[in-house]
Amino acid sequence: SITNGRAKAIVVETGMSTELGKIADMMADIEDEMTPLQRKLEEFGKAIVWVCLILVSLIFVMGLLHGGELKEIFLSAVSLAVAAIPEGLPAVVTIALALGVQRMVKRNGLIRKLPSVETLGCTTVICSDKTGTLTRNEMTVQKVYAAQQWFDVTGSGYEPVGEFTLAGDAVSAADHPELAMTLKTGVLCNGARLVEKEEGGYGIIGDPTEGCLLTAGAKAGLSRESLEPENPVVDEVPFDSDRRKMSVVCRSEGKLVAYVKGAPDEVLKDCTHFQEAGQVKPITDQVKATVLEANSELAEQAMRVLAGAYRVLDDGMTEFEVDTVEKELILVGLFGLMDPPREEVKLAIQECASAGIRPVMITGDHKKTAVAIAKKLAFFGPESLALSGAEVDQLSEEALRDKVEQIAVYARVSPEHKLRIVRAWRDRGQIVAMTGDGVNDAPALKEADIGVAMGITGTDVTKEVADMVITDDNYTSIVAAVEEGRGVYDNICKFVHYLLSCNAGEIMLMFVASLFGMPAPLLAVHILWINLVTDGLPALALGVERIDPGLMTRPPRPTDESVVTRKGGLVMLAQAALMAACALGAYIFARHHYGDLGYAPEILLRKSRTVAFVVLACSQLFHSFNCRNLRESLFKIGPFGNIKLVAAVSISFFVQVAVVHVPLMQGWFRTQALTATEWIWILLVSSIPLWGVELGKELALSLMPILDGADPTGKDGSTRGLLAKLT
Ligand code: ADP
Ligand code: MG
Repeated sequence: SITNGRAKAIVVETGMSTELGKIADMMADIEDEMTPLQRKLEEFGKAIVWVCLILVSLIFVMGLLHGGELKEIFLSAVSLAVAAIPEGLPAVVTIALALGVQRMVKRNGLIRKLPSVETLGCTTVICSDKTGTLTRNEMTVQKVYAAQQWFDVTGSGYEPVGEFTLAGDAVSAADHPELAMTLKTGVLCNGARLVEKEEGGYGIIGDPTEGCLLTAGAKAGLSRESLEPENPVVDEVPFDSDRRKMSVVCRSEGKLVAYVKGAPDEVLKDCTHFQEAGQVKPITDQVKATVLEANSELAEQAMRVLAGAYRVLDDGMTEFEVDTVEKELILVGLFGLMDPPREEVKLAIQECASAGIRPVMITGDHKKTAVAIAKKLAFFGPESLALSGAEVDQLSEEALRDKVEQIAVYARVSPEHKLRIVRAWRDRGQIVAMTGDGVNDAPALKEADIGVAMGITGTDVTKEVADMVITDDNYTSIVAAVEEGRGVYDNICKFVHYLLSCNAGEIMLMFVASLFGMPAPLLAVHILWINLVTDGLPALALGVERIDPGLMTRPPRPTDESVVTRKGGLVMLAQAALMAACALGAYIFARHHYGDLGYAPEILLRKSRTVAFVVLACSQLFHSFNCRNLRESLFKIGPFGNIKLVAAVSISFFVQVAVVHVPLMQGWFRTQALTATEWIWILLVSSIPLWGVELGKELALSLMPILDGADPTGKDGSTRGLLAKLT
């Protein structure tokens, strides 16, 4: 979709036969690379395999020493090994990442590379364009400065209805030649189209910066349709964000005229004359100073400013280049364009602040315009700095690196500066997301940890190198993607925690039992079954747990943080021990209790194993609720927030009941039916880990202030503070 400039094109191939199609074809063959997390998990998995093998061999040897039956012990050992190794983990991780990608698409973030989902969650800095991303990119000309006079323009949107006023009185452009000339320049030096929308109202095709000039012109009766037949376009030097100007050459009244518009400071450099009261006069330093003064006055009101100028060219000219056209210009006037900040971005910026993410604005606009918008969006404080591209050029790599944390706004920058800004942040160990739309932005997007391309205004080149494309060009979508990225990682941690603590519990149970020479509490088939029931549905349900509302109030996670931290590992082992202890306790109790009741040895063993089997399976199902949130307790987040988990656990539980009561399954699993009273006792015992862990979390949270050195006196009135005081 070409929305800028002019061209004639012939389509010769489409779809997969185009060059892009061929690349797409080649890409289909490339194997997807693993994400850092997947790689970390694989290494982690290998370590677990070794630990498991050692423990399982020990269990096997001890079983033999205690005189068990070889076949039985061997089967148990092998199934324990199978159960303990989380072989399903990589698959579940991929599913969680893929689901995360899907959720991001719903929130307008299109992920192009799977590893970006993780990196997104670690983002600490978001460097963003201003126009269109932080602002609405719906421009309206509100002021025109011509012949040292201020004209106000009424009307709103792109609808060409409104008038020009001078000190409150409506005026006609016909009486003000400079106003008319400024508007004419804006209309002719223009690649956009003003169109009536099918659903009513007016819209534009092309760059809003140019579209609004068409509307302004039409308000004075200078529409493109009326001007173009008399001023046919000969050639164009398109806009470029390095030059910040654009020119169109037209044949006007028999003469070849170049109409130029662009950033006032740039246009002014090329001006040798200016127009006043219909007369062309040589420009003086004083005139330049008043024009620049007017420019900053507009910029301070958060307006984007364009200057209009023209030049009559030599009639014989045929080649139109930047250096032959954009010189010796005659300045006519300035446009003040209002592009209001997006309302929703304000909230997103607040979210960034609480999530420890720094917003940075990078724009080609005037510094004062940029700062005015940054202030409206509340991320430019008294300590913040705003630097222009020229000022960045003055700084060495080191100097920029030292200052970069203070700089909230970069104005009048070129795409090359973006690369330096990304590098400076990255040198400070920050994880940078960088937006871009133009071709020249591609290197900066590539260098950034997360390159973000604009879906609407972006060029194909930027989309190709980007890690993510935001389909609505809205800053809010970047923040939403960061939130989803954090959520995905958080959920992965949850089920890794769940799977590993369950597996560790099984090993502990078997290990301790064999250590004391008891007959194995679980048969091979029990272990495999528990693995199937718990690692299946409940683990998946944890992977789709709703995003923790507190997620964006935490600081960003360090990239090198391992999935299982030392503290997390210890907590996990403690929880595993609790589950193993419950199952073992129930097993030992059953052996004594039913022994006292005089059960035959064969039946006694079968019944006790059933008890241990059911207690372990149920405690793991209960434990899945513990893993819904690894920080906050269920007392706070409520137990039934994840309906999928409730469903998964219920299904698993009923299948478990079937295993104990359906005669056919009793045969397969060598189980014995349980009475209602037994079931009640079993459920009570199995739920001990659930309550234990949740109370532990509350206790840990109340102890935290003491450990962290915060006020433990409870003077701040918080429950946690009071709890801390009590404990
Ligand atoms: P941004 O980073 O906000 O998109 P740009 O690089 O697009 O900034 O624009 C920088 C400056 O160039 C603007 O302040 C404006 O003065 C000028 N400018 C922008 N668009 C055009 C255009 N289509 N034609 C002429 N000048 C333009
Ligand atoms: Mg732009």
